[in-house]
Amino acid sequence: MAARQRKRSTDQPLIEESSESARPMAWPGMRGVATVLGRALRLRCPNCGGGPVLEHYWKLRARCGNCGLALERGERDYFIGSMMFNLVVSELLFAVLFIATLLITWPDVPWDTLEWAAPLAMALAPFVLFPFSKLIWLGFDLLLRPVTPDELQPQ
Ligand SMILES: [Zn+2]
Repeated sequence: MAARQRKRSTDQPLIEESSESARPMAWPGMRGVATVLGRALRLRCPNCGGGPVLEHYWKLRARCGNCGLALERGERDYFIGSMMFNLVVSELLFAVLFIATLLITWPDVPWDTLEWAAPLAMALAPFVLFPFSKLIWLGFDLLLRPVTPDELQPQ
């Protein structure tokens, strides 16, 4: 009994991993996708649109300050997918901006500026996108695996 009342370690998930795997998946509509993207881009909870969800720019809270959603959803290394998402978006932004710069400035492309600005932007983008990618990842997960009552804890 004493072990049950022991304070929760920060390494342990809030929700049991085995119950997460048994959850059925649902197909999200475009309206749901737009909603969670909008909430994530405003750094709000993808589930309720409230917050706060960040302790600081680099760290999510354990639960949403409004609806009490467990933000790591009970899986170890839950946000590894958000890192992949972060890097892919950074690369896509680079490609879009590079091509746009070429098209807009052709034939006088500022190669000297691109030579230092492009690598600098590529190095900074993953840091700037860090909290957004985590919340977008969580939002898409919520669309595919909707929230269950056991994940919510009133604040
Ligand atoms: Zn919330």
